[in-house]
Amino acid sequence: MSARILVVDDVPANVRLLEAKLTAEYFQVITAHDGASALACVEEHNPDLILSDIMMPGMDGFELCERLKADPRSAHIPVVMVTALNEARDRVRGLEAGADDFLTKPVNTLVLISRVKSLIRLKHMTDELRVRRATAGREIGLDFNAPLGRRARFLIVENSRLAAEQLTRELSADGQEVTWEPDPDAATVLSRREDFDVLIVNLRLGQADGLRLCAAFRSQEQTRHTPILLIIDDNDLPRLSQGMEVGVTDYLVRPFDPNELRARCRTQVRRRRYHDQLKSLLFDSVSMAYSDPLTGLFNRRYLFAHLEHKVGELDDSTKRLAVLMIDIDRFKLVNDSFGHGFGDEVLRGVAHCIADGLRDSDMVARYGGEEFVVVMPNTTAAEAVGVADRLREAVSRLNFVTPGADKTPLPVTVSVGVASSSAAVSTVDALIESADRALYEAKRSGRNATVVGTPYGTSHDSLCAEAG
Ligand SMILES: [Mg+2]
Repeated sequence: MSARILVVDDVPANVRLLEAKLTAEYFQVITAHDGASALACVEEHNPDLILSDIMMPGMDGFELCERLKADPRSAHIPVVMVTALNEARDRVRGLEAGADDFLTKPVNTLVLISRVKSLIRLKHMTDELRVRRATAGREIGLDFNAPLGRRARFLIVENSRLAAEQLTRELSADGQEVTWEPDPDAATVLSRREDFDVLIVNLRLGQADGLRLCAAFRSQEQTRHTPILLIIDDNDLPRLSQGMEVGVTDYLVRPFDPNELRARCRTQVRRRRYHDQLKSLLFDSVSMAYSDPLTGLFNRRYLFAHLEHKVGELDDSTKRLAVLMIDIDRFKLVNDSFGHGFGDEVLRGVAHCIADGLRDSDMVARYGGEEFVVVMPNTTAAEAVGVADRLREAVSRLNFVTPGADKTPLPVTVSVGVASSSAAVSTVDALIESADRALYEAKRSGRNATVVGTPYGTSHDSLCAEAG
């Protein structure tokens, strides 16, 4: 994961310490020594995350955070306050100023890196939606700090009645709606049936493992993007990075201050609503002019507008881009043998299968005929091959049954060409051409295969399965 991080602190030694820890993880670090230069830096370098000290001469960290969050151009950039203060009062003040997290000096490296990675993942997803909204050509006012409106719904998974009652009391006092479920399996079922804004999970659920439950939440469609707040004890900190890996969005260390609980919950609800709002605006604005009527995917026109945006971002050295070109094998034969009605059914089935298998930050469009293009930001060629192979596998498991009397199962496979951005492949045309060439190689190698394109006109097979 690559990203640009701004570190703000008035003490040069503190800046250097954080810079060293972050650089060791291959993050790009920029620095500022006071609030005013931090604001200028944000304007100029558009960082993915800001780590800010609180006690600084002139503008302090709280004010810096408030200013960043008040400006629509920077409101979506996550801010982590780093400070020697460890008073609950200050943590709450930071969260109310809009900070996304709070780290105490001396900073624990494990906690620092896991927080940074989780916030950057979130930021990349939001960026993606913002780009698509811009691509769709509609600038609609979106307020990150809008009042929360309707009551938020919380699901608490906690096996201790006492702890659950305390959480329920605090959140109800804040006007939220709370459901308590002690059993993790029952909680998984409940979360599929009802729509919750935030899931609160205790890491220790008696015999059960809270992280296993978090992973289950992440793997099901209904809760894939629902914020998860993990409750841990001081000595559970080493497991936190595992928690962040499975997709926990925030955590609280017991015993926690009720104000901190409420502030963190409000932040999660706000992020969720912002994300939902972006998604629905996007859906409205693109649904007509930019979608393919047969498959419901984006169309070719949208694809090229989107690619222009993404390729434009490649000037920024921290960005990467991969493209998959996917073609249904022997599709002409399907159409000729079973008619266009059945051909359309296969096109729709494959289109939905691809769309279901992608991350939120990826996009897929119908390129034309039986060809689809997937655009994957922040993805290496190796990661793209992994995705391509998963998609091929998923398509091959689809059940198509031929029309007419015989109703025999018809296996359908796809071939995939992979292209990724590099110095030689840095334009839309070059990317598409490289993916197209690789697709041609995949077809030649016997179909149902993934091939990575190289910028020099030669290709090599990465992983080839049997021809379909
Ligand atoms: Mg200071």
